Amino acid sequence: MEIAEERINIKQALKDYFGFDNFKDNQESIIQSILKGNDTFVLMPTGGGKSLCYQLPAILSKGSAIVISPLIALMKNQVDQMRAYSQNPNIAHFLNSSLTKAQIRKVKEDLISGETKMLYVAPETLTKEENLEFFKGLNVSFVAIDEAHCISEWGHDFRPEYRRIRLMVDFIGTNIPLIALTATATPKVKSDIVKNLGLKTPNIYVSSFNRTNLYYEIRNKSNDSDTKKSIVQFIKTKPGKSGIIYVLSRKSAEEIAQTLVVNGIKAAPYHAGLDPAVRAKTQDDFLMEETDVIVATIAFGMGIDKPDVRFVIHFNIPKSIENYYQETGRAGRDGLEGICITYFNYKDIEKMEKFIRNKEVAKREMGSQLLHEMVAYGETGSCRRQFLLHYFGESYDTSQCNKMCDNCRNPKAKIDVKDDVLTALEVIKELNEKHQIKHIVGVITGEKNRDIIAFSHDKTKFFGKGKAKEKHHWTSVIQNALVQNLIRKDIEQYGILKMTEAGHSFLKNPKPFEISLNHIFEINENGSSEDSGRSAILDPQLYELLKDLRKKVAKEKGVPPYIIFQDPSLEDMAANYPVTTEELSNISGVSKGKAIRYGQKFVKLIEQYVEDNDIDRPVDFTIKSIANKSAAKISIIQNIDRQIPLEDIANQKGLKFEDLLKEIETIVFSGTKINLNYYINDVLDEEQQEIIFDYFMEAENDKLDEAFKELKDEGISYEEIQLMRIKFFSEMAN
Ligand code: ADP
Ligand code: MG
Ligand code: ZN
Repeated sequence: MEIAEERINIKQALKDYFGFDNFKDNQESIIQSILKGNDTFVLMPTGGGKSLCYQLPAILSKGSAIVISPLIALMKNQVDQMRAYSQNPNIAHFLNSSLTKAQIRKVKEDLISGETKMLYVAPETLTKEENLEFFKGLNVSFVAIDEAHCISEWGHDFRPEYRRIRLMVDFIGTNIPLIALTATATPKVKSDIVKNLGLKTPNIYVSSFNRTNLYYEIRNKSNDSDTKKSIVQFIKTKPGKSGIIYVLSRKSAEEIAQTLVVNGIKAAPYHAGLDPAVRAKTQDDFLMEETDVIVATIAFGMGIDKPDVRFVIHFNIPKSIENYYQETGRAGRDGLEGICITYFNYKDIEKMEKFIRNKEVAKREMGSQLLHEMVAYGETGSCRRQFLLHYFGESYDTSQCNKMCDNCRNPKAKIDVKDDVLTALEVIKELNEKHQIKHIVGVITGEKNRDIIAFSHDKTKFFGKGKAKEKHHWTSVIQNALVQNLIRKDIEQYGILKMTEAGHSFLKNPKPFEISLNHIFEINENGSSEDSGRSAILDPQLYELLKDLRKKVAKEKGVPPYIIFQDPSLEDMAANYPVTTEELSNISGVSKGKAIRYGQKFVKLIEQYVEDNDIDRPVDFTIKSIANKSAAKISIIQNIDRQIPLEDIANQKGLKFEDLLKEIETIVFSGTKINLNYYINDVLDEEQQEIIFDYFMEAENDKLDEAFKELKDEGISYEEIQLMRIKFFSEMAN
C-alpha cells in the first residue's frame, strides 16, 4: 500500500480532518499499523472510537478503502458523519440495495476518479459478481471489516455472508491489507475472526473491556408483578433520568411500558411489531428526552448513541454474556453513572432452554453453552466484574472493583475450599479431562444418572466422594476454579473442563482458596414469568395480508373465507409469526390437519414478511399456551361418538345446554371433527338443514346473531343455527 505523502503527521491529520486533539486508547498505533499495510485486529468496547481507526488511514492512503458493515442504517450514519467532517461530500459513499441505478453510477464514477476514500458496503453487496469485477479494477487501499464478530457463530449476530469476505478480497486483488474491528469478542470469537478472515500475522490491539463506571447487580425475580413494582420503585429514585429496560416479548414491552406510564414515568415501548414511523419517533423522543425510559425487545439499541443512559434493566436474563455486555454497555457511555440490574429467574431460563431445544442441532449446543455461561454469571457469589472480564479473556484483580458490583458491595461470607478444589481437580484430571461441569459434579456427589452409568463412573473411587456437601457447593467450587484459571472450558468441545498449568501446580502445591458460594435464587412456582410468553400485539399490516390471502384461497376452494381460518386465528398469526406448519398448529383454532391442508401458503407469506421487515419473532412462541384438549373435552367427544343425546351429556357434566354447545364449538374450532348428525337429524328436517347450510356457504361471516336475523323467518331457532354451524365447520373446515 502506498502512503500519500512521505511522512505524515497523523496527529495533525486527526486535528485537520476530525478536529480532535488527541487519540483515544490505541487509536494511534492502530492507524500506524494500517498505514504500514499490516493486517490488523482491533478489539475495543462500544464507544471506544473504532471508526476513526480506519477512517483516518483511508483519507491518508492512495486509492479507496472498502468498509464492510452489517447494517444499512449504520452505513448511512457513518457516511453522513464523514461527509460532515469533510468539505467534499464524495469522500465517502455507500453501495447497497437502497440506491437507484443513477446513484450507483455516480458512486462508481467517484470511485474511479479517486475522489472517494471510503466505500461502505454490506457483505452481500461485496459478493455480487458485477461489483466484484468493478472492485477488481479499483485501487483498493485496504478492506475494513466492522462488527467483525458477525463472522463467528459464537458472536451475538452471526451473519453467514461474513464468511465469504476473504474469498472476495482475494478475488479483488493481492496483498490488500485487512483490518477487523469488533466490540465483543471472547477468545473463541477472536480466533474465529482471525482464522476466517485469514489475517496474516495481524497486529492485535485489545482494549480493556472493563467499564469502571458501570454497577452490576443481579436480583431475584420472584414473579412478574413484584418485579414490575421493584422496577417502578427503582426508576422513581432516578427521576428524569434516561434508561432502557430489555424484555423478551412484545407483549411485556407493551405491558411494562404501560405500568410505568400509569406510575407517572415517561416511558414508551419499542419493538419490531410497531410501525416504522412510530419506532423512529420513539427513538427520537428518547434522544430528545421527551421519553425517559424505553421498554424494548432486543431490537432496540443498535446504532443508538445516547451518552447519558443512566440505567439498563434486564427484565429477563439475556441469552448470552455477549448480549449482556453489549446491552449493559449502553449505560453510562459518558463515563458517569450507569446502573445495570438484571432480574434472574429459573423459569425464564427454562423457557429459553426450550426455545434453544427447538433449534437445529448445531445451534442447540452452542445456544445452551452460551446460556449456561450467563446463568453462571448470575449465580456467582464472587465479583461480577471479574467474571465478565474473565469471560472476555482478561484477568482482573477484584480489589479494583470498588464496590461496583452487588457481590463486592454486599459480600457474602467467604469459606476456604482448598480441599474441595483439590478433589474437583483430581476428578477432572483422572476422568481424562473429557467432561462438563454437570457431569463432574454428578460424579463427586454420587448421582446415578444415565451418563454416569454409561461411562461406569459410578464404579470409580471418586463416586460420591463429596456427597456430604450439596451440588450447589461443588458447582460454586468449580466455577470459582474456572474464573481463577485453575481449569478452563474447551468451548469447541461442548465446554468440557480441561486442566491448566495453574491447575497442575495447584495439585502439587495447594494453597488456601477462599470463595463465596453461589447465590441460590428462590424458585417460586406461582410466579410464572411472562405468562405464556405469547404476544398479544397484532401486526396490522400482516393481518391485512393474511386476510387477502385467505380470500384468495377461499375462492380457489369454493368455500367461505372463515372456513379456511377464523379471524381469531389470523389475529394470532399476525401477532406470533408462525413460519412452519408445525408452529402454525400452535395458533389458536388451527389443528395439525388444518395447518397441513391450508397452512403452506400462509406460513410462506409470513416467512417472507418476517424476512422483508426484519421482524424478531416472539422467542417462546413454540410453547403451546393452552392445553388443547382437557379431560372434560375428551369425555364430551367420546360421549358424542357413542351418540348420546346432547341433553344427557349436558346433565351428566352439570352443564347448561348452551354451555355444552359452546364447549363443542371450541372443540370444533380448534380443528377436531365432530359428527352431530345423530342429534341434528332428530331436531331438524333435511330442508331446514339445507337452508342453514346454504346460508353459511354464502355468508360474509359466521356470526350467529346475523344468521339468526336472516333465518328466523324460516322458523329456525338460534340453537338450531348453532348446531348447524358446528356441523358446517366440522364438515367443511376440519
Ligand atoms: P465505536 O465504533 O468503537 O463504538 P465510534 O467510532 O462510533 O465508536 O466512536 C465513538 C465516539 O467517539 C464518536 O462520537 C467519535 O466521534 C468519538 N471519538 C473517536 N475518536 C476520538 C478521539 N480521538 N477524540 C475524541 N473523540 C473521539
Ligand atoms: Mg462502530
Ligand atoms: Zn465486584
